[in-house]
Amino acid sequence: MSAPLIPYKSIENPASNLVVGEGLAKNAYDIFCPREGCRSIVLKKGAATWMERDSLKLALPTDTPSTTTDGPPTQPYWVLTNMMDFENIGFSHTVDTTKYLSCADCDIGPLGYHDLGAPEKEYLIAVERVRYRRE
Ligand SMILES: [Zn+2]
Repeated sequence: MSAPLIPYKSIENPASNLVVGEGLAKNAYDIFCPREGCRSIVLKKGAATWMERDSLKLALPTDTPSTTTDGPPTQPYWVLTNMMDFENIGFSHTVDTTKYLSCADCDIGPLGYHDLGAPEKEYLIAVERVRYRRE
């Protein structure tokens, strides 16, 4: 349990280095809360799939929307279809049909969201908002 937790921005080529699996891009490492000093595990390796989803859901008001892409902007998330696949997760608050996900221990967030109105039942964790334990 003493292995360092690596922030997303310190990982080179995350789209290939963070995933494993044939066809499916599963998370190659355990995923942890981003807060220094908090070691709450959010996901075990292999529990989620790397997929592109709407990035505006988690955009902060200060974020500048990208104008260079066609269609709605996207960003990579770890996607789960079953809430029971989380090791630890908190639900911070709900806006309209969107529930925001946070650390179950220290409440930092949002780390991701769950859209009750989406056609697919998905729980999404933004890949850049968590830390990774590389063995
Ligand atoms: Zn935490």
